[in-house]
Amino acid sequence: MHQWQVETDSPEATFALGQRLGRLATPPLLILLRGELGAGKTLLAQGLARGLGVPAEVAVHSPTYTLLNHYAGRCPVYHFDLYRLNGADELEELGFDEFAHGDGVALVEWAERLDRTDFPHLDIALEILAGDRRRLQLTARGGADERLLRQLAAAGSME
Ligand code: ADP
Ligand code: MG
Repeated sequence: MHQWQVETDSPEATFALGQRLGRLATPPLLILLRGELGAGKTLLAQGLARGLGVPAEVAVHSPTYTLLNHYAGRCPVYHFDLYRLNGADELEELGFDEFAHGDGVALVEWAERLDRTDFPHLDIALEILAGDRRRLQLTARGGADERLLRQLAAAGSME
């Protein structure tokens, strides 16, 4: 499965979706999160981090000023927020490529700021619908493992 779309109707449902995805994920994995302010990127990242085994007592926040937070789960979890990124040089200084395709799972908020990536990735576009509804469009790109989407879709329809 190359693409899967789902709607959530609460912050909790978006978190839970992230958690399910996190449980299924295996490194190396790059997850690009797109969508306007308030779309739910951070909530999804928080669910993902929990699903990846980051303990509940570890706070997962948008690394808006630092660009990168690092958490220890069952594998390393690298949480980027590129909102304040000043160009590709800064990404290189951060060593982005090593995190994007290395020993862990990399979550990237404001992935619109990346002009391109050479690595297979899961692209997640979040769209604000009326009220608390959000549409999430998940796409496996660049030869990314499509099994993850199949498993996620199957798990979702069983609930
Ligand atoms: P972003 O990181 O994209 O700016 P956040 O995850 O920080 O977004 O915030 C999303 C906001 O939208 C939160 O205040 C959350 O309570 C609210 N919200 C309402 N409905 C949803 C939903 N279905 N999914 C995610 N967030 C939602
Ligand atoms: Mg955010």
